Amino acid sequence: MHNPGNATPDRFPAEERFAEGAQYIAGRLTRGTSGRTHAVVDPASGEEVLRYELAGTADVDRAVAAAREAFPGWAGATPGERSDALHRFAAVLADRAEDFARAESLQCGKPLKLSREFDVPGTIDNTAFFAGAARLLQGQSAGEYSGDHTSYIRREPIGVVGSIAPWNYPLQMAAWKVLPAIAAGNTIVLKPAEITPLTSLLFAQAATDAGIPDGVINIVTGTGREAGEHLVGHPDVTMTSFTGSTAVGKRVAEIATATVKRLHLELGGKAPFVVFDDADPEAAAHGAVAGALINTGQDCTAATRAYVQRPLYDAFVARTAALMETVRLGDPFAAGTDLGPLISHAQRDRVAGFVDRARAYARVVTGGEAPEGELAKGAYYRPTLIADAAQDSEVVQSEIFGPVLVVLPFDTDDEGIALANDTPYGLAASAWSRDVYRTNRATREIKAGCVWVNDHIPIISEMPHGGYKSSGYGKDMSAYSFEEYTQIKHVMFDNTAVAAKDWHRTVFGDR
Ligand code: NAD
Repeated sequence: MHNPGNATPDRFPAEERFAEGAQYIAGRLTRGTSGRTHAVVDPASGEEVLRYELAGTADVDRAVAAAREAFPGWAGATPGERSDALHRFAAVLADRAEDFARAESLQCGKPLKLSREFDVPGTIDNTAFFAGAARLLQGQSAGEYSGDHTSYIRREPIGVVGSIAPWNYPLQMAAWKVLPAIAAGNTIVLKPAEITPLTSLLFAQAATDAGIPDGVINIVTGTGREAGEHLVGHPDVTMTSFTGSTAVGKRVAEIATATVKRLHLELGGKAPFVVFDDADPEAAAHGAVAGALINTGQDCTAATRAYVQRPLYDAFVARTAALMETVRLGDPFAAGTDLGPLISHAQRDRVAGFVDRARAYARVVTGGEAPEGELAKGAYYRPTLIADAAQDSEVVQSEIFGPVLVVLPFDTDDEGIALANDTPYGLAASAWSRDVYRTNRATREIKAGCVWVNDHIPIISEMPHGGYKSSGYGKDMSAYSFEEYTQIKHVMFDNTAVAAKDWHRTVFGDR
């Protein structure tokens, strides 16, 4: 087993791989020119794994210029040519899968099994999906809707997309932003979270090695305030696609609106997990633990609020707590680790703050503390179950983004559904029951972009991901994402070939 305090090169040699810099512009690595540096820190040990020069506004300008220059050629490629390039891209990613998994686990503290079995294969599959989908972009069928004209629809790329991504799934977020954009013929400048740039850079390098032209994908690794805001407000960027917190999303929306950009927002979540009294209790308890703890709870769709119908409530609390206690915290690179640290010590302290404040008004059933001993150096926090909190309390209403599940009881089905809908968020939800009429009602009435039945978390490239309410608008993944990354043009042909057209009489003469 590795010593968690020793960021050994076999984890991922970040300094060596990004010796030329941590910006990727026009097909090559380059250094940021902001005059400031930033450290990527291994959250399992607290040690620096890469110090790099942050992007400043001039780097964003260079990246946008490269994307702009690449746009006509890439937009003008045939769908088949773009598809071929994306198929090659998927193959390069598959060849480098282990490299990606190690880099992702190093910068995020994810257990290697999660990176290997979820983040990386999901990204390869998404790339393969968009390689196919690139050839299926459609406009509406043509027709003679006025009688005197033929109309048809062109679906066209938008131009240079500026994207901003969060740190929780850096590789998948890069893929979700980049792939539909470039499959549709756009070019892109992506700003990953400055604490997790490694796999976005590897992703762009792999695209170049697969033959995707220089400038189609550019990565600027800078702060939100400097590089992020400059990218969103940039006059040569025609669309902003943002994934992150609702608070920052609002700021991004202000800037994008002021510069009249197409906007796609994937924001926070607070997913309800509704267990009706005829549910399989064992399946619900397992589902709640897995759904709440995946990625150490730093998942916008994670199960965060379990509403359990009164007859099952006490047993659910006891069983879920017992299962949580079997989860093994440890070094992300060690076999046998189920749960890694949070992304940073600051995030761990933020999560601990929510739990500590909750002790005044609710019951912490298990967890509620950082482990001691060898793991104390890392940003670890024990899986935590909180019961008996009021619906309007902070732990029920706010996004905690850590390994914390809150459980509340309900009596009637009406009440369960109403409570599920009672937060500003609407990203994802699940309903647990063996009665198809109950689950069918829940799927209709819960206001969320995805509702699972008797499961919680799985995603698939063919299906869209996106929010309702304060969780944002627009879709990632699936063919639906093309609605964000394309614009529709109506082309209308006159069929009469006469100079004095019938409708001209509304302007002059009396024909
Ligand atoms: P965040 O909002 O703090 O940061 C997201 C990104 O925005 C980062 O790249 C950051 O540098 C950048 N940023 C910060 N301030 C900015 C500004 N003023 N202008 C432009 N960019 C700015 O979010 P985070 O802490 O990195 O990620 C966690 C959040 O992301 C959670 O709220 C989570 O729910 C959300 N999330 C949502 C989805 C989804 O699909 N809806 C997916 C993953 C994460």
